[in-house]
This record gives sequence, structure tokens and C-alpha cells, in this order.
Amino acid sequence: MNDFRETLYTVDKRGHRKWVYSDIVKGRFFKLRAIVAYTLMAFYLLMPWISINGKQAILLDIPSRKFIFFGTTFWATDTMFLFLVLGGLGISLFLFTAMFGRVWCGWACPETVFLEFLFRPIERLIEGSRAERMRLDKAPWSFNKIAKKSLKHLLCAVLSWVIASTALAYFIGREPLLNMMTDWPGHHPLPFVMTLIIMGLMAFQFGWFREQFCTVLCPYARFQSVLMDADTITVGYDQVRGEPRGKLARKSEENNRGDCIDCKLCIRVCPTGIDIRNGNQLECISCTACIDACDFIMEKIGRPKGLIRYDTENRLYGRPGRFLRPRVFVYSVILLAFIGSFFTLLEKRALTEFQILRGTVASPFILQPDGNVTNQLRVHVSNKSEQVESYTFSSPASGVKLITPLSPFKLKAGEIREVPLFVTFSKDRLKDGKFRLKIILNGSSGYKGEQEITLLGPDE
Ligand code: SF4
Ligand code: SF4
Repeated sequence: MNDFRETLYTVDKRGHRKWVYSDIVKGRFFKLRAIVAYTLMAFYLLMPWISINGKQAILLDIPSRKFIFFGTTFWATDTMFLFLVLGGLGISLFLFTAMFGRVWCGWACPETVFLEFLFRPIERLIEGSRAERMRLDKAPWSFNKIAKKSLKHLLCAVLSWVIASTALAYFIGREPLLNMMTDWPGHHPLPFVMTLIIMGLMAFQFGWFREQFCTVLCPYARFQSVLMDADTITVGYDQVRGEPRGKLARKSEENNRGDCIDCKLCIRVCPTGIDIRNGNQLECISCTACIDACDFIMEKIGRPKGLIRYDTENRLYGRPGRFLRPRVFVYSVILLAFIGSFFTLLEKRALTEFQILRGTVASPFILQPDGNVTNQLRVHVSNKSEQVESYTFSSPASGVKLITPLSPFKLKAGEIREVPLFVTFSKDRLKDGKFRLKIILNGSSGYKGEQEITLLGPDE
């Protein structure tokens, strides 16, 4: 009875793969998911070609350590932003899984989006319905079978190439991609090989490997069960209403039967081939296909829809439940803290950052023959703008000399440099061997930043 806990639906007793020929019912959830999927696909395909603030909307330029998101440029040194984004995404995953189960897998994961709304529709178009596909696969090789299979895999390869080229545009930029496409591939061996590798992986994944990625490889599937509880809203079967299941009964027998007529349409539409009536399972990606299938059957036999539906385990078993639990509250607060910190930092973010450190010479100061004192300092300057910037140092204190080897000194876009700075001041300024001085860094684009530092001298 519970053999589903020990076996994979897609593997037979001898360990061979059972190919999933999923059927399709275009119910209300299918239509909603189609809208979401095609919107996500359009977003993915169009983003590299859209400009915001004169820059490619999303660009991950790893060699230059430059990352552009919606018109804002981040550099590799913006580690706090990276931490907040990755942390925020991680917490969102925790929060949404605790509230809505594997909603990411069923609605937004690229694996589901491309497979269910791009590659499977092509397969259906060329090879026909579920029954026709099964017949075709069982049939001996013929001209018709070779033609259909070749056409399907050719189209898969072309679409994989489009997806792979778009992926490359996110990393190398759209102009270099266009140049590369109109040039001999041998002149751009690395991007060309990368495109071929991504294209090969896509064709393999969507043409053959498919649901095995979710059921065998994906790490999220492994730990999602610890994030969910009996109050998580997920796709579930109403056992109380559905059992005992049985073929559609005559009116006189109906009282002893549940609403499930054991038609197995919910299994036939499942992209991972499982039976949702066995309860929540690791292989379920919450795609809602079984909801549409069962609603279709319920409508046909004149019973209320929702035998399979989005609900919590507690409610499916008629127990009281609550949507707002401590974990939902804690995850929400942490997520809000991450989002708040991100935007606060972004608001305050300067396009130049600098930090003054002491010099590396053995003595912290040099006493000059004329009675002045010199401190050697090191200044880490980081130009986070997208143009060359010239900098000079100044100080509001009178009689203080600030000397750099080059003034003004220039930093390229995204460049970080350590600049030596010599500060000379009169010994009279010292109090207990110390002198607090404000140093200002001036940028050619109008930047003005200041830092206070304690200079040292003889304690006489
Ligand atoms: S589709 Fe509904 S009625 Fe048919 S087997 Fe599944 S749960 Fe039962
Ligand atoms: S059980 Fe239902 S929701 Fe889960 S993967 Fe199968 S069809 Fe999708």
C-alpha cells in the first residue's frame, strides 16, 4: 500500500526509466500558469535588449567584476549588497515554501516554465496526443517516426540555442553577442564553446532528462519538506471526501462511495507521474495539473470541484489550522529587514568610497629638521561610477600640507587603488603626541567625502 514511499514512479522494478507521457487538461490553473510562464519567458528573452539609464537592463560582467541591475551598477566590492540580495532570496524561499509549498517549482522554475510551456507543446504539436505519442514510441522505426523525432529534436535544438545565446547576452553583453554572431566562431572560441555547452545541456534536459532533474537532482526538493508543515498551503487530495474511491456508481450505491471515481486522470496529467492521492510527496512540484484534471472530471460527473485543490493538510483532514504561524512571522520580519537594509544602503550609496589607513613604514611619523611632522598614510580609493574620475585631497585645517605622488590622480570605472598620502603639519598642533585632522577627498564629478584621522608626533 505504501510502496510509493520506497519507489520512484518513473523507474520500473528492473531499474529502467518509465517515460512520462503527460496528458493535458487546459483548466483555470493551466491558463494562469501559461500567463505567468510566457511573461517570465518574455522577461528572460527581452531583458538583455532593454536599456535602463543607458545601460543593458541586466548584465553580469564577471571579467570586469561589474554587475548591472535595472540601471544600477554594482561592483565586486559591493559585498554587502550581494549578501543582502542572496540572503533575501534565501529567506524568500523559506517564507514562500512555509506558506505555499513548492509554488516556485510549479510556477516559476525555468525547468517547469520551459518544459511545460515550450518544449512539451512542440512535442504535442509534432507527435500528437498522449496516446499517439505512446503508440509512436512503441512502433518500429519508420520514415514517419524518424521524420517526427528528427523534427522535434531539431526544433528543441534551435530553441535551446536561442535560450543559450540569451544566457550569454547576460554575461558578455548584447553588443559583443551580436558581433560574435556575425563573425567567424573561431574568433570567439570561449563564448562559442559556452553557447554550445549551454545549448547541449538544455537540449539534453528538455529533450530527455526532464522530470528526473526535479525528482533526483534538485536540492530544493530534498529540503522543502522540513520547511513545510501541516498548515502550508499546497496541492492536496481531499481523502475525507474522496474515499472510498471506486468507479462511478449507480445512484443506489452512491452513499457508500467517496467522490473519487478512480479515473486516474490526475496521474495521467502529472509531469512527474505520481499519484497525488497518496499524499504529499517529494516528487510533487505543485504544478496544479492534477487540480485542473480532477475539476474537469468533477464537472463532468456533476460533483463539486476541489477534490484536489490548494489547501493545507490540516484543512484537508478537517482539522483546524492557522495560516499565520511563528515561522511565517519570523521569516517575514527577517525578509523585511533584508529588503529595508538593501534600499537604505542603496539610497546612501556613494559612487566613491575611500578609507584612510596608517602607512607601512616602521616609524609612525618623521620629525623634519624644520620642526614639522610628517605622517605617511595609505588611502584605499574605490571608483564605483562608470566613468574615469579624477581625485584630489584637501583639508579644512590651515598650514597642513597634503602630498600625493600624483595630484589629481585618476581612477578608471570600477577601479580600486591604494594611494600613498603624506601629511605634514607643525609640531605645535600636537596635543599629547596626537593631532586630529579632517581629510577631504574631492572627485571631478562633484563627489566630496571626508574622514577624520589621528596623526601622530613626538609626545613632548
Ligand atoms: S482525477 Fe479526481 S476522480 Fe479521477 S482519480 Fe484523480 S482524484 Fe479521483
Ligand atoms: S501531483 Fe499534481 S501538483 Fe504534484 S506534480 Fe503531479 S500534477 Fe503536479
